[in-house]
Amino acid sequence: MEKKIGVYICTDCEIGSALDIDQLRKVAKKMKVPVVKENSLLCMKEGIEFIKNDIDQEGVNAVIIAACSPRVNYDTFNLDVPLIERVNLREGVIWSHPPDDEDTQMMAEDYVRMGILKMQKMEAPEPHKIEDIVRSILVVGGGIAGITAANEAAMAGYDVSLVERDELLGGWLAKLHKQAPTKPPYTDLEEPLIKGLIKEVQQNSRIKIYTSSKIEKIEGAPGLYDVTVRTNGTTESFKSGAIVLGAGVVPYDATKITHLGFGQYPNVITNYMVEELASKGQIMRPSDGKPAKSVAFIQCAGQRDEEHLPYCSATCCVESLKHAKYIRNQDPSVKVYIFYKDMRTPGHYEHFYKAIQNDPGVFLTKGDVKGITEEEDKNLVVEVENSLIGEDIQVGVDLVVLAIGAVPVTALGEEKLPPGVNPGDAFIPYVMIETDTLNLDYRQGGELPALSKGYPDSNFICFPYETRRTGIYAAGPVRSPMDMPSAMEDATGAALKAIQCIELASRGEAVHPRAGDTSSADFFMQKCTQCKRCTEECPFGAINEDEKSNPLYSVTRCRRCAVCLGACPERIISFKNYSVDMIGTMVKKIEIPDEDEEKPRVIVFACENDAYPAIDLAGLHRLNYTPFVRVIPLRCVGSVNLAWIADALSKGIDGILLLGCQHGEDYQCHMATGSHLAEIRLSKVAETLDRLKLESGRVQMTQTSIADYYKIPQILDDFLEKLDGFGPNPYKGF
Ligand code: SF4
Ligand code: SF4
Repeated sequence: MEKKIGVYICTDCEIGSALDIDQLRKVAKKMKVPVVKENSLLCMKEGIEFIKNDIDQEGVNAVIIAACSPRVNYDTFNLDVPLIERVNLREGVIWSHPPDDEDTQMMAEDYVRMGILKMQKMEAPEPHKIEDIVRSILVVGGGIAGITAANEAAMAGYDVSLVERDELLGGWLAKLHKQAPTKPPYTDLEEPLIKGLIKEVQQNSRIKIYTSSKIEKIEGAPGLYDVTVRTNGTTESFKSGAIVLGAGVVPYDATKITHLGFGQYPNVITNYMVEELASKGQIMRPSDGKPAKSVAFIQCAGQRDEEHLPYCSATCCVESLKHAKYIRNQDPSVKVYIFYKDMRTPGHYEHFYKAIQNDPGVFLTKGDVKGITEEEDKNLVVEVENSLIGEDIQVGVDLVVLAIGAVPVTALGEEKLPPGVNPGDAFIPYVMIETDTLNLDYRQGGELPALSKGYPDSNFICFPYETRRTGIYAAGPVRSPMDMPSAMEDATGAALKAIQCIELASRGEAVHPRAGDTSSADFFMQKCTQCKRCTEECPFGAINEDEKSNPLYSVTRCRRCAVCLGACPERIISFKNYSVDMIGTMVKKIEIPDEDEEKPRVIVFACENDAYPAIDLAGLHRLNYTPFVRVIPLRCVGSVNLAWIADALSKGIDGILLLGCQHGEDYQCHMATGSHLAEIRLSKVAETLDRLKLESGRVQMTQTSIADYYKIPQILDDFLEKLDGFGPNPYKGF
């Protein structure tokens, strides 16, 4: 496409009074931009018409809006042209720097230069539309989350294949005698909702149910998965567009909590066993079949304990209150004791908790259960320390119930490190746990990457159902501890995400966080050395390999994070609108004042997901920060190619700051491992800089979030101060 670039400079929002607009026009003209205009109402109807007129009459097809931040007026400037670029003069320059000032003006001119250069280097992406897209969803797991996801997807008009390992649908909830209150006054037990939901899926003609079945293999990619299911020795294959994983949890193995006596004393049972006993009638002692006359519940039996389950399972407190009510309803003479670390009954469950507290037959106290001993008649003595009554107590009971926690199905298997990662490596981004659940045909492993607790990695704040495999959405307790209403809400969200993925893939668009992006990675394969860096470092398993180790890219698995672009030592991976060359040339276009002017120059490579918005917010709040920085937004700091750093430093840039999202176990990186990879790669740059006799501190990475916007001026000042200690870059002027 032959580009005709038009630069449109807005003079409203104080831009016209704070900057020398004539000078900005000259900058653009000097770069041979054919159409350069200013307008005082660019985001208004008249301004848009003004640009549209040039599109229609002058043939402008590459529009640069030099005005407000690209994060605002997105729809307003979404003009019908192949290429649009925004230059942030408002939040990024004049709202964060003094008006009518030489340094502010230099900053604006650099941004205009970089914007034009970016446009000159960019090509319009061509979306890879999937013509034969499969508009059906595979739901793995027939418990509350799976059933809800299947129902919701079917109601939205999508066919569903629901695969359950057990003979019956419903999972653990189908075994419940009653469910905890979900309706006002939130004090009464209810009939389990799951029974009605099972009927709904069974009667829905859009839902095909496979019970006693397991997934044997999933090949392909979002929009076009090939699924093989094995049922009682026979296999069946079908296609699916996206996947919801609602495989649920299993109870923790109570025999591992040795001091609580399960498996050793017959009258120590688990909360899961109470449901079965209650469904059969009265709750009896296993040792002699006699009705229990006193029952102790021990909360957090293994949960919130680093030796067992380090997390709260989210349901056991309410379940024990429910069990207390079973017992008291059956026989009001039975005494119930509940020993807890903390009673966790959020939301409306608090009413239920109060109702049980008001029952004189239920004694609740905080305390640490140190152990259980058995007496000759098989009665039990519970020893409690640090109780609320201020002394250690011993309570004799007929029956003890351990409120054990739940383990996600995704945690049940042998842990393996990802390809290319060795034990003891500084960077272990996730583990693969072979659970025989999805059996994906992915180079990076057959299941979903998991963090330390075995959950399939959906813990980052912005995208609750996301996993590290595009098109596969985890829902319900398999992704995080949660109760039934939360699991249903979760499953609805995951079903919608699966639908969204199918529809975006059909249009050749990325899913979030770059939803709507139609670009895709191009590999210049003639120069590929088969080093495997891209396949190993892609956070989303988007690149398989052929038998000769050539990368095999999948466009619908790809999230367009460009982490592969940062990984490739040969620099042969690029996007039409994002490449090593494009950013590298922008870096080179920054004007470097002479050393004696004492105006340092610092490049801030800012992640577009958190860091760039934080800098923008600093501008919006009119926080002033140093005018010596030039901010370049990136898809992820994991996309930083070391060539950019080398280019910048050899041109005389004094320092480079990477602003990325938090990484590590509680990561907030929108591209999962990108931020952490950037840090690892930077540690290698440091060695190179030391060899070049350039201080390694000139390149630094800092983690930030949108909420930290008010810290931006200080972060930048601190870095400038550090650079001041090094003095000017000796390569300045070369
Ligand atoms: S852009 Fe990101 S998701 Fe796509 S192949 Fe590269 S590293 Fe993987
Ligand atoms: S990182 Fe680059 S050179 Fe290495 S396998 Fe991937 S494309 Fe080829």
